[in-house]
Amino acid sequence: MTGPIRHSDGNGQPSPSRRTVLRGAAAVTLATAATTAAGAGTASAAGAGPSPAVVDHPGAQWLPADPANYRTARRPRSHPIDYVVVHVTQEHFDDAVAVFQNPGRRTSAHYLVRSADGHIGQCVREKDIAWHAGDPGYDDHSIGITHEGWVNSTAWFTEEMYASSAALTAAVCARHAIPLDRTHILGHHEVSSATHTDPGANWDWDHYLELVRMARTKR
Ligand SMILES: [Zn+2]
Repeated sequence: MTGPIRHSDGNGQPSPSRRTVLRGAAAVTLATAATTAAGAGTASAAGAGPSPAVVDHPGAQWLPADPANYRTARRPRSHPIDYVVVHVTQEHFDDAVAVFQNPGRRTSAHYLVRSADGHIGQCVREKDIAWHAGDPGYDDHSIGITHEGWVNSTAWFTEEMYASSAALTAAVCARHAIPLDRTHILGHHEVSSATHTDPGANWDWDHYLELVRMARTKR
């Protein structure tokens, strides 16, 4: 993400275990909000935004970013999709959703993956251009996937999150004919003009790519 990165000094960083209880309550709140949005969706879908009930990834929860935080497009017709860019939120899942839904933040990602259980939220449709890479050359041509956690703590990078994200990346790559390699599946830090360090040295790229390829084989 480009906006909400707050590099933690480690002191104020909450522990994942303590969050488990809180997360349950937050998830219920989000689920309730999503249900409400879907129920009221016909009217809001009449505008430029997508239908709240529609996601590109089966099973993803539609948690729409504010339209001020991405650009509507007609990809891949308008812009070929060639890359997946991997991020870490430096925020809790629900706080990252709030950032994407705040029109003042001018940032978003297509997908947000929760640490504890790998739950996937979709915030921007794949046809639209999320602002996550900080570089139009990559934003225009990529899908941004951000992961709940902090770059300096391996505890957030759970196996559930790796597996769920890998299945998502495999599906995205299948949809858009993106090769499963590190030339096309990039970290935010590898985007040429990026000033961000995520997903950081604790992100296990070898393991992630292995899971992506396994997920692709299973499809
Ligand atoms: Zn990032």
